[in-house]
Amino acid sequence: MYSHSDLELRVLILAPTGRDALLLSQTLASSNIGAQICSSPAELMQMLEEGGGAVMVAEEGLSSEDVSNLAIWLMSQPAWADMPFIVITSRGRANAATAQKAQELQVLGNVTFLERPVRPETVAAAVRTALRARMRQYEIRRRQETLARVNSDLEQFAYSASHDLQEPIRNIAIYSELLNRRYGNVLDERGKEFLDYVNEGARRMEALVQDLLAYTKAASIADEVPEPVDAEKALQAALSNLAEAIRQSDVQMNFGKLPVVRMREVHLQQLFQNLIGNAIKYRSQERPQLSISSERSDSSWLFSIRDNGIGISPEYKEKIFGLFKRLHGNDQYEGTGIGLAICQRIVDRYRGRIWVESEPGKGSTFFFTIPAGGG
Ligand code: ADP
Repeated sequence: MYSHSDLELRVLILAPTGRDALLLSQTLASSNIGAQICSSPAELMQMLEEGGGAVMVAEEGLSSEDVSNLAIWLMSQPAWADMPFIVITSRGRANAATAQKAQELQVLGNVTFLERPVRPETVAAAVRTALRARMRQYEIRRRQETLARVNSDLEQFAYSASHDLQEPIRNIAIYSELLNRRYGNVLDERGKEFLDYVNEGARRMEALVQDLLAYTKAASIADEVPEPVDAEKALQAALSNLAEAIRQSDVQMNFGKLPVVRMREVHLQQLFQNLIGNAIKYRSQERPQLSISSERSDSSWLFSIRDNGIGISPEYKEKIFGLFKRLHGNDQYEGTGIGLAICQRIVDRYRGRIWVESEPGKGSTFFFTIPAGGG
């Protein structure tokens, strides 16, 4: 029985004549390389499923059909994997048939050809090189797994922390308000001032944990491609949530016809809401103006949201998409620095891009791309 790592590092040999296979495995054994002989292409495929470090085949051991079956298997490898193949080719001059066979075998991807007669040292050296490459792939897999685990732990932590903090924070906000209402008259000015700080702090914490929760939720998108959704609908929902800010700021809006995209409606709504909310919040002295448009580019849609607000210095164009990154204190503009991080996260999940073009005092245009719906 092979242990896990033996399975992962074994060399699978497929040679139609038993003698060839035996010679190859003896050659490898004398170099301390574990090998296993497969009696047929079907058995090779089965053993590959269980694990292997490299595959050594005699060219005549694989029919065109076997090669295409192997190619299909190779396509299903995880992203970190690229199984190395060593193909022992027939001796002789290249002719049309051997050239075609060589071309067919290229679909195996990571393939090295050794022409007969092959010296044992050459075989051993080629296999060692292949196994070395395979070990690197395992190392990448290990790192990916560690990263994914750490990421998911952090995700879980952020979710639980923000979720569980909601209630105590709400209590602080409610009771500090009650205290003010019922016992405000027995407090002196300093006492009232302190109570205001408590209430303000609680309100700010409430906003922070709410945004953090939204941030952790933005990551939990299933892998399947969502049904097409009308962007107009998502925009209307965002505008209705921003109704009060729109009314107060007297913002002038214009938007063109918006397309159908493949995205969860709630995510598109959140993108619009955060970007439009910011365009209103970071307005200049002028009457705020906002235009929203979209255009098709290949397989995605490019959305743009332009404002005539205070603008952003070039050096902060990327930073602002980071978590908790803000360019202003809370006394100037209220906020948590999470809104654009949420946008970035949503767009990343749909393999889109988000960026801003802006100059201080000249307004900003935020762009994002997402995959198109309807084909
Ligand atoms: P918040 O608005 O809560 O601070 P965001 O993540 O939404 O957090 O935005 C990060 C920072 O980017 C903001 O603090 C602001 O400085 C800048 N910013 C975002 N949108 C705009 C905009 N439309 N115009 C000017 N500055 C902006």
